[in-house]
Parts: sequence; structure tokens; C-alpha cells
Amino acid sequence: MTKARRLRIWEKEKGVCYLCERKVLAGEPWDAEHVKAWTIYGDDSDENLKVAHKEVCHKAKTDADMKIVHKSNRQGLVTGQQARLAKRGHGLIQSRGFSKDGPKQKIPSRPWPKKGDRT
Ligand SMILES: [Zn+2]
Repeated sequence: MTKARRLRIWEKEKGVCYLCERKVLAGEPWDAEHVKAWTIYGDDSDENLKVAHKEVCHKAKTDADMKIVHKSNRQGLVTGQQARLAKRGHGLIQSRGFSKDGPKQKIPSRPWPKKGDRT
């Protein structure tokens, strides 16, 4: 996060913390915070960034997000980070696939019924 970008987010949000809706006072530490958790959605656009108090508000939000991340990991959902890794070929999500040779043992086909077999 560059200083220019932080400033851009600040101006977009008019310096108001989106979590407690209180203006961040001069000297108060604040973060440009991902509204939709970056770890989950992987959305790093300006629209997804808002001003939040660093200490109380952002920390509480991050804790809540981490609970969702842990929950979704348990449920086997794909997080944004995993999706990016997979795109780069780290192959977290791979189908087992089928061997090109096909099944190794041929299933014997049923012999064609001979004339006179039928009753
Ligand atoms: Zn706040």
C-alpha cells in the first residue's frame, strides 16, 4: 500500500472509519481496510478499501474475518489466496483425472448370442 493510495482511500471515505462511523482524529492510527476480507475474496480494488481505526475497529474486524477464513477452510471452500495459487499452477485444486490408456483391464464383452440359444 503506497502513501498515495492510502491518501486516495482517505479522501474517498472523508477520513471516517467505516466500522464505527466516527471520524479518525489527527494522530489516531488507521488502516486502509478491506471491506470484503482480502483473504477470502482476493479483491484489492479501491472500492473494497475503506478507512478503519487501526487499534480497536480494524483488529475486531480482522479477528472476525479470520474466523470466517478458518470456517471456510474447514468446509473446504476455496479462498481467494488458494485460487490465486492454483492459477499460478501450484495445483491445490486438481482433479484426479483419468489415465490416457484407459482402464488397464478390458472388460470382456458378452459373447454374441448364437443362433438357437434363445429359448
Ligand atoms: Zn473506528
